[in-house]
Amino acid sequence: MKIIIAVGSVVVLALVALLVLSTGSSLEMAPVKSIGVSTPVTLAIANPHGVRRISAYVEQNGARYPVFEQSAPARRLFWNRHQAPLKVSFEAGKNKAPNLKEGPARLVVETVSNDFRGSTDRATAEVNVVLTPPRVIPDDLQHYINQGGMELVTFTVSGSWSEAGVKVGKYTFSSFPLPGKPPEQRFAMFAYPWDLPPDVQPLVYARNQAGTEATGHFWFKLFPKKFRVRDLVLDDKLMEKLVTSVDPTGQLAPGPDLLSRFLKINSEMRQKNNQQLADLRFKTEQKILWNGPFIHWGKEEADFADVRDYVYNGKKVDHQVHLGFDLSDRQNGPVMAANDGRVVWASDLGIYGNCVVLDHGYGLQSIYGHMHQIDVKPGDLVKKGQSMGIAGQTGLAEGVHVHFGMQIDGVQTNPREWWDEHWIKDRILSKLAPERIGAASETSDAPMPHKRKGKKKVTQ
Ligand SMILES: [Zn+2]
Repeated sequence: MKIIIAVGSVVVLALVALLVLSTGSSLEMAPVKSIGVSTPVTLAIANPHGVRRISAYVEQNGARYPVFEQSAPARRLFWNRHQAPLKVSFEAGKNKAPNLKEGPARLVVETVSNDFRGSTDRATAEVNVVLTPPRVIPDDLQHYINQGGMELVTFTVSGSWSEAGVKVGKYTFSSFPLPGKPPEQRFAMFAYPWDLPPDVQPLVYARNQAGTEATGHFWFKLFPKKFRVRDLVLDDKLMEKLVTSVDPTGQLAPGPDLLSRFLKINSEMRQKNNQQLADLRFKTEQKILWNGPFIHWGKEEADFADVRDYVYNGKKVDHQVHLGFDLSDRQNGPVMAANDGRVVWASDLGIYGNCVVLDHGYGLQSIYGHMHQIDVKPGDLVKKGQSMGIAGQTGLAEGVHVHFGMQIDGVQTNPREWWDEHWIKDRILSKLAPERIGAASETSDAPMPHKRKGKKKVTQ
């Protein structure tokens, strides 16, 4: 009898232990506000015993529509300990739940822990079901684009949408309402970046809150460009000068020898500085701050998107692309604003040395590097031709010159187009602000873009 009681007690104790050791999950659903035809939902699940079931459903008007189910073999007694946290993604929306209607709904996710008790955890999100896709219709103009250069397209968005712009391969460009027009009538300036192959089709796109995207093709012709490849021969004297200029204290780019320090600056720091430049796209005004063509000064020492092979002791040690123009013969002279704009950066920027960045509105910005002295500060409005400081050789510069670059929505583009009054009238002003063309010059002979014959292709 005693033995039976003893065995019974052991069993009871074991069951209590199993219950105590059973554990709930930490379940987190990435924020989701709207769902549409097919909206991705991501879950982060942490349970040391793992989960035996994950299910998700949408509740609307008293009905429950399953959208996801995943199970693992149940383990009640010999559960796994220390299961790694799990990331699970699934699609929620009308594709999975055809009876969903436009309007409010609730997304519910449940997990059941994979142990004796099988405890249930739940995460919910109040969502809005948005089923109508946006529509986007581009203009029917002829778009001539230089590889590495820019273009402007206008388009109309309709339906429910929250974001619209242009996509060129992996790049995305913001759009703005056309000046004086309602928000549905938009334009985007975009680059055809130098690093894309010549067969990429730029697209206008619009996306709604549920992630449903519509795209539209527009007519374009690309003029491919061959970018120059040049050797840049490094010796110890040059590297010493450049490394000391960028990193005098040795703390920014430490390394066992001069070459490794130089390579750190030339690759890692270059990448970081280009990202800092790209991030300035958020500091842009929604108006045209510039006026007429950009000033072109100095002798061109390096072209846009020159490819440089760095050679040391007869061996190729690095390969980088130079995004901008190097303008020399400034002889410590003034660095002039290439056009009217607002200063959004005026300090050290690694390889660019003392650097000024001007915003010209609608994501268009100009960059001035290697300055000896900066006489402007962020927020200042400057006029075309106004001196912003003195040219120098700070940063990664072999001699005195101004590094001049331009970018659209954070993507560096060939500034040469902005030195060309005809290009500006033809490609930009005729679509963005035609009234400015007559005002700037009454004898303009710039060709207007021609309307294209035939049907445009619009895909949803
Ligand atoms: Zn340069």
